Amino acid sequence: MTCEMPGCERVAKKRWRTIPICNSCHGKLRKETLSFYDGRTKPENRRMYKQFKEVEAKAK
Ligand SMILES: [Zn+2]
Repeated sequence: MTCEMPGCERVAKKRWRTIPICNSCHGKLRKETLSFYDGRTKPENRRMYKQFKEVEAKAK
């Protein structure tokens, strides 16, 4: 299985919610999410999460 994030072709070994993604994208999403909840990243700057939401919307 390949990572579902746009432009990423690494092997998906993890999931974010129900979407298969690679370790690298999972790490970036996790870091960005933590940073957002800490107030260090503004909602409009959640680049990985925005991409993820688009992928998730298509998967439904
Ligand atoms: Zn990836």
